[in-house]
Parts: sequence; C-alpha cells; structure tokens
Amino acid sequence: MSSNIRVNRICQYCQKEFIAKTTKTKYCGDVCAKRAYKDRKRKEKIEASNEQTKKSKTKSIEEIQAKDFLTIAEACELLSVSRWTIWRAIKRNELNAGKIGRRVILRRSDIESLFMQ
Ligand SMILES: [Zn+2]
Repeated sequence: MSSNIRVNRICQYCQKEFIAKTTKTKYCGDVCAKRAYKDRKRKEKIEASNEQTKKSKTKSIEEIQAKDFLTIAEACELLSVSRWTIWRAIKRNELNAGKIGRRVILRRSDIESLFMQ
C-alpha cells in the first residue's frame, strides 16, 4: 500500500521545513543526511581524542608524583595552581627553589612540607 501521507518536518541538520513521507524522516534529503552522519562521526572522533588527552594527563600526574624534583610547570600541574602562585610562594620564601642554569627546580618534599605546618 503506497501511502500518500505528507508530513511537515524540520530537517535536523539544516533546520529547514520540508515535506516528508514518513513521520520518522529526520533530514530533508540525502545531502543533509550525509552531512549529519559526517558531523556525528567527527564528534565521535573529537570525543575519543579528548578521552585520550584526559588519560595521558592523569598519567602525567602520576609520573609527576613519582618524581623527587619538579619543574615549575610540573608543580603547577601537581597542585592545580598557576605558575604565578608558585612564583609568589618562592618569592615569599615559602617554597625553596633550586636553580640549574636558568631552570628552576623544586623539590617535591618541599612542596609537601607546605602542608605539614
Ligand atoms: Zn536539510
């Protein structure tokens, strides 16, 4: 039985109104259907990549926690504070800092001792 139903639908991709033959049609045509499919695939890829980034980030925190000496950047990551906060702590002599050439090195035990007072 061929139906003669005509349904007014809004395309989920381009938001244009179109006439569909079924109430389940999501897109106004093949072009929008394909574009929507591509968008969905792209989003999946982005999510997968974000997940990857998250994982390697947690991994790097574990690596930092295993180190005895940290760079300013690593200390920032470990404490979730800004570079500036670390610098201020150094300037106020709240945090000991060693220097190797131009690099400032922090001892993880010094950072931990901030919490022991
Ligand atoms: Zn469309």
